[in-house]
Amino acid sequence: MKTVVLKFGGTSVGSIDRIKNVARIISSYKRKKMGVIVVSSAMSGTTNELIKKTKELSNSFDAAEYDVLLATGEQATCALIAGRLKHLGFKARSWMSWQLPIITEGPYSSSRISKINKGKILSFMKSGGIPIITGFQGINLENRITTLGRGGTDASAIMLAKYFNTDACDIYTDVDGVYTTDPRNHSKAKKIHKISYDEMLEMASLGAKVMQPTSVQDAKLNNINFSVKSSFQKKKGTLITAVKKTFSNQIITGITSTKNNSKVTIVGVKDRPGVAAAVFKPLSLNQINVDMVVQNISLNGKETDLTFTIKSEDVKKTEKIIKQNKKISFRKFTYDNNVSKVSIIGVGMITTPGITYRMFQALASKKINIMVISTSEIKISVLISNKQIKKAVAVLHREFKLD
Ligand code: ADP
Ligand code: ASP
Ligand code: MG
Repeated sequence: MKTVVLKFGGTSVGSIDRIKNVARIISSYKRKKMGVIVVSSAMSGTTNELIKKTKELSNSFDAAEYDVLLATGEQATCALIAGRLKHLGFKARSWMSWQLPIITEGPYSSSRISKINKGKILSFMKSGGIPIITGFQGINLENRITTLGRGGTDASAIMLAKYFNTDACDIYTDVDGVYTTDPRNHSKAKKIHKISYDEMLEMASLGAKVMQPTSVQDAKLNNINFSVKSSFQKKKGTLITAVKKTFSNQIITGITSTKNNSKVTIVGVKDRPGVAAAVFKPLSLNQINVDMVVQNISLNGKETDLTFTIKSEDVKKTEKIIKQNKKISFRKFTYDNNVSKVSIIGVGMITTPGITYRMFQALASKKINIMVISTSEIKISVLISNKQIKKAVAVLHREFKLD
């Protein structure tokens, strides 16, 4: 018997009608005599609502209780899906992660699955049952509930596919595949039929919300092929896999943008060894993720400016940490909350010269100022003003023949 993991995201289970629709999709796999493992997210908006409640109670809400609370959303949808399937005459039941259990490692809110106990699910499936498993959650070795980071049901799906060694893993969402750029923000975005793990990982990490970055990393590490499909339209989706057949003229695969970035500049730090480390160590100890970094070349050999980007929500905390840092001296701390990162991604970049120039030229043609640049083998990112994102994505999409 062929087996498959079916993952349903928040929008796909976002209302009673949509739960009915999900049950229909599940039953279509059962009709093909497949063994099905379902994993579901919370209804869209639920997790955000829960987070809001914790913020109203404390600005440093207990990490363990935070995960206990956030995990409740998935419990509700799994029960609803299982209940609907039973109504339709199927053998189904919900399983919370702790009931298997799904074991995780790492800190609360960003744990990773390290083991899935399969026994109960396998015997339930053997008897024809459809298990509906909560995504996004697990338990740690202290027997406490953990969560896998925002969008973490994607990681649950990939790891279920790994542990149960299923034949397929279908990620059902509200778009019918991975597009060259977010189809909600650019009408000329095109569906990508097949994309490599590496490109998908870059796209996810650089702002394409469609897959959680960690889940793509898990898929790559374990060589799990998966498809992204729409739960609303019956269309062929996107296959994410190890190899990619590209058209020879296709250099760039996708374009992404991020929101809520801030650019911080520390003006007049001493230009000597150890200063950058002294600036960034306390930030890292406080879980502040620093992204793009530039240090200007100092003119007098004594002082320089250090610029870096962080999430906007971390600006105040960063300012406090920098200003209290006795290991550094500087003249001024400034920040700009109205910046975004736009990136072009494609393995074709490795073998094609001149991509950086074409990107900068295209942006310049629309009078878009570049503040910070960062590159890797298969991506180029630039920091620009928030207001110019739409324009930047559009001009780059055209420049790299993705329209
Ligand atoms: P789910 O709740 O199913 O997990 P998400 O909201 O996490 O769904 O991800 C789907 C969304 O990702 C889409 O609605 C789309 O707006 C967004 N998205 C961003 N970039 C892309 C892209 N390149 N291709 C497809 N969708 C994208
Ligand atoms: N419900 C969780 C979230 O909103 C997990 C998920 O949807 O994948 O982040
Ligand atoms: Mg998601």
